[in-house]
Amino acid sequence: MTAYRAAVRRTVAVTPLMRRITLGGESLRDYSGSGLPDESCRVVFPGEITRNYTIRRRDPAAEEIDIDFVLHDGGVASAWAAAVEPGAEITISGAPAGKYHPAPDVPWRRLIGDATALPAIGRAVEELPAGARALVVVVVDNPNERQTFDTQGDVDIEWVYARSGDAGDALRRIACDRDLPEGPGYTWVAGEAAATRDIRRRFRHTFGLTADRYDTVGYWRLGAERWERRYQEVAGIVDPKLAAADAIEDDEQYFDAVDDIYAEVGL
Ligand SMILES: Cc1cc2nc3c(=O)[nH]c(=O)nc-3n(C[C@H](O)[C@H](O)[C@H](O)COP(=O)(O)OP(=O)(O)OC[C@H]3O[C@@H](n4cnc5c(N)ncnc54)[C@H](O)[C@@H]3O)c2cc1C
Repeated sequence: MTAYRAAVRRTVAVTPLMRRITLGGESLRDYSGSGLPDESCRVVFPGEITRNYTIRRRDPAAEEIDIDFVLHDGGVASAWAAAVEPGAEITISGAPAGKYHPAPDVPWRRLIGDATALPAIGRAVEELPAGARALVVVVVDNPNERQTFDTQGDVDIEWVYARSGDAGDALRRIACDRDLPEGPGYTWVAGEAAATRDIRRRFRHTFGLTADRYDTVGYWRLGAERWERRYQEVAGIVDPKLAAADAIEDDEQYFDAVDDIYAEVGL
């Protein structure tokens, strides 16, 4: 996998809990994008620890990308982002990829996410064609975490306030308990992984939505350390089943199978 070395050029506080880091370097001129607004890269932190982050802004001519980091308690990535100064070097890798794919003629799109999804939501809103209808609901810690976006779209943004430990439940309520606008739209949900997993199952199995009507993406996990400990205990059972599931070609059937494998062992 190609690695791109870059240096921190500048930092800015987007909000008290969101720090924008502009990375620059010659190698970023060749770092081509997927064109999807939720495209992400893998950032390699000291100790070879990797985490996924959305590319909030790309400027090949200036050899720059912006990444917006949520500052939270614990975590290598968050601690790095909170403290880093211009000049520090970092590596990014991975071909940028995303999942946001409403059909071009969709009458409305819903974007639902917690703070980690804001960079992708911001890009998606800013890239909307003139008049395109979007309903956006974002769960953030408090009103100081709201952001504004320039857009040609017809956009309603609602802010819901919850601490990170409650963000998943807020996402579940927003995604599953609200009436949808008329017509066949598209819903994109990203945020806490247990919540996005539940939401995908509800969309598919309770509401009967077809796969072209939604995408859900787990961005982070509440209690990640507990999940990882349990995973290590049951890896011998889980890993062969996951390897077998790789043969399933249909994405949604694959996600169902993986959910079942994890659920059987309490993950
Ligand atoms: C495709 C994709 C795109 C992403 N884009 C972004 C982005 O643009 N900006 C962004 O900030 N994040 C983004 N994320 C989420 C980010 O990768 C995770 O939050 C990651 O876990 C942070 O790593 P860490 O080293 O700081 O914490 P970890 O070492 O992973 O976790 C340490 C502790 O912090 C907790 N934790 C982790 N993340 C959060 C959080 N956000 N809020 C509260 N507690 C948390 C964990 O439960 C754990 O207890 C994205 C994730 C994916 C998969």
